[in-house]
Amino acid sequence: MSDELRELYQEVILEHGKNPRNFHASDAATKEARGNNPLCGDQLVVYLTLDDGGNVADASFLGKGCAISMASASMMTEILKGRSPNEAKSLFDTFHEMCTGEGEGIDLPEDVEKLRVLSGVREFPTRVKCATLPWHTMVAALNDEEEISTE
Ligand code: ZN
Repeated sequence: MSDELRELYQEVILEHGKNPRNFHASDAATKEARGNNPLCGDQLVVYLTLDDGGNVADASFLGKGCAISMASASMMTEILKGRSPNEAKSLFDTFHEMCTGEGEGIDLPEDVEKLRVLSGVREFPTRVKCATLPWHTMVAALNDEEEISTE
């Protein structure tokens, strides 16, 4: 990755970390789960509202943590809307591969290409847990699990 690209990615992460999208609780949520990454201190709750067809009508989160976990949650909640649970889970798999480096150079679908700004975490194994925590929590919510921990 070039230094220029790295800097650009960094900026996007910091911007999302400072102004996270969909940062609120949801009374209407039909699924929710709590995620905890003790290694870094990231904690969040992911709220999902599924519509009658079972697709994600709304996604939001609340929590505190490092810029990477907050930025990842912010981007994830933007991307999930309108997707089926299976699509959401398959996106998690793709994202996880990208973050762990197994999918280096992985092709992301165009509408989720922005997740690539988080791909730099693959160089920092402890940061992978920060980036993937919101996604683990989202999958836990879909599976009706109340709580997950990266430990
Ligand atoms: Zn973190």
